[in-house]
Order: sequence, then C-alpha cells, then structure tokens
Amino acid sequence: MKPTHIEHLGIAVTSLADTMPFFEFLTGGKCYNIEEVADQKVKTAFFKVGEVKIELLEPTCPESTIAKFIEKNGGRGGIHHIAFNVENTAAALAEAEAAGLQLIDKAPRKGAENLMIAFLHPKSTCGVLTELCQQPK
Ligand code: ZN
Repeated sequence: MKPTHIEHLGIAVTSLADTMPFFEFLTGGKCYNIEEVADQKVKTAFFKVGEVKIELLEPTCPESTIAKFIEKNGGRGGIHHIAFNVENTAAALAEAEAAGLQLIDKAPRKGAENLMIAFLHPKSTCGVLTELCQQPK
C-alpha cells in the first residue's frame, strides 16, 4: 500500500458546538464544512492544518458507533481513527485483504466530503481504526 498522505484524523466528540471553539483556537482557522453522514449516524465538522484535516465526529443517536466509542472512553471523546489518502480505495482494500488484514468494509462507500472510504479493522491494524480514502474525481 502506498498512501500519499494522512488525509485526516477522526476525533470523536460529545458535542460539535462545545468543542469547535477549541479546534478553531488550536488550528488557527475556522471550521470550513459541517456535514451529516446519515449512514454513519454522525455529524462532522472539518478543520485544516496544512494539508491534513481534522474531522470532528458527533454522534446523532445512541446507536452510532461514535456514541459507543465515547461511552467506552468514559464519556469523553478522543482520537477515533486515522485516514490515509490513497489513489484508489478499492485497489488498496484488495491489497490489504491480500496481506491478510481484516476489513470492516468489503467495498468502498461514500463518506463525508464525497470521499470514497473504507475501514480496516483495528484488530489487524495495531488497535488503530484505519480509514482509506480516495478523493472525488
Ligand atoms: Zn474519517
């Protein structure tokens, strides 16, 4: 696998409204996009640090995997995943599967910002939930 760069860091938060001022302070910039991703049951807010983005993830319901992550984390948010930018998510997934890694997504799907995304299971990625993403054409 040969990612071009870290696309973003996904950070789970209990509330976008409560945490956005801190990330504005930290990044020295404004949130440039807020988007709800219905199938992942999250609302996202994006910030930029150079080329790398920070994706804040707020659960939209208790069944959201982000809500479960926060619950496991003692009710606090925290780093949820690292996303690597690849030329082709489907090809990178096939490569990961051939290398014996456990996949969460068998095929790429559409994520926030129209990226084609897929997750690798933390069981085979040293405990770090790993996302592969491809820029929209
Ligand atoms: Zn992500």
